[in-house]
Amino acid sequence: MTTAWLVLALGNSREHAGNDGYDDSPSQHYSWDSTVQNHARVAVGDVIALWDRKELIGVSVIEAIDTAIAEKTLYSCPQCGKADIKRRQREKPAYRCGKCGHLFPAPRQRTRPVTTYRSAHSKRWMNGRGLLSGSELRALCDAPKSQLSMRPARWERLRQALLDVTGQASTVKDIAAATRLAIAGGHRESMVRVRVGQEAFRKQLLRAQGEICAFTGPTPAAALEAAHLYSYAESGEHHDYGGLLLRRDIHRLFDLGYIAVDTAGGTVDVASSLSHYPCYAQLHGQPLKMQFRPEQRGWLDAHWLSKRPRV
Ligand SMILES: [Zn+2]
Repeated sequence: MTTAWLVLALGNSREHAGNDGYDDSPSQHYSWDSTVQNHARVAVGDVIALWDRKELIGVSVIEAIDTAIAEKTLYSCPQCGKADIKRRQREKPAYRCGKCGHLFPAPRQRTRPVTTYRSAHSKRWMNGRGLLSGSELRALCDAPKSQLSMRPARWERLRQALLDVTGQASTVKDIAAATRLAIAGGHRESMVRVRVGQEAFRKQLLRAQGEICAFTGPTPAAALEAAHLYSYAESGEHHDYGGLLLRRDIHRLFDLGYIAVDTAGGTVDVASSLSHYPCYAQLHGQPLKMQFRPEQRGWLDAHWLSKRPRV
């Protein structure tokens, strides 16, 4: 079933005082981060419908998602720690907590590392202004009363609603043809072919290596992903020994270069910028949890060279 996401795009006027806001340019990109519920469930091939609470802005299909690690400043109530704080217009002190009612001159600030996500979805963009109201959109969601900024919706119902109001069958069909549902039926695009291949590759690694993360040890299959080593080498072709099974979080940190392999010692090397995270820092210097093959050494060295200088 095709997943659609109804996402709230308020640009710089996004109201919560609890964060610094996001840079959205609705017809091309949508940005979110790991403090948002459902942040990691959104995938390439999903339908994305942007709205501003009043009405639909537009609909498209996600072509790519870029991720990065960033520091985010979070503001909260100094008394109860909740982010539900409001800036008052004239009265002093200037802030009021919506949860506990506490009044205070300045919010508590702290930074925390977050994963940031940015979708690219300009190709199939269909302008939706004036087509569907906020309440019509809410009714298409799995949970119509949800307050989330990213909420799952039924694409089948959204598609029908769009067809009913536009009669622009071709644009709506264009969107439908680019979704994951259509792709599973043989309509493949390169971005998604990588995903399909990835799953087969992961299964093959699981059969060969068992439920073991190469850097941390025994891990349930549900939390293991296939990391492609050969993507760091000149040739992007598939290779039997070109992958490692890694726990999902470890995989992301590996892809970004925060975790690498010291092939001389056969040990895990963790970037010093992660030293204040004990669960990652303790991996530094540990031997790999599996024998790495001679072919893999070159790829792991290439990974180090291309990724490590950036972190
Ligand atoms: Zn409070």
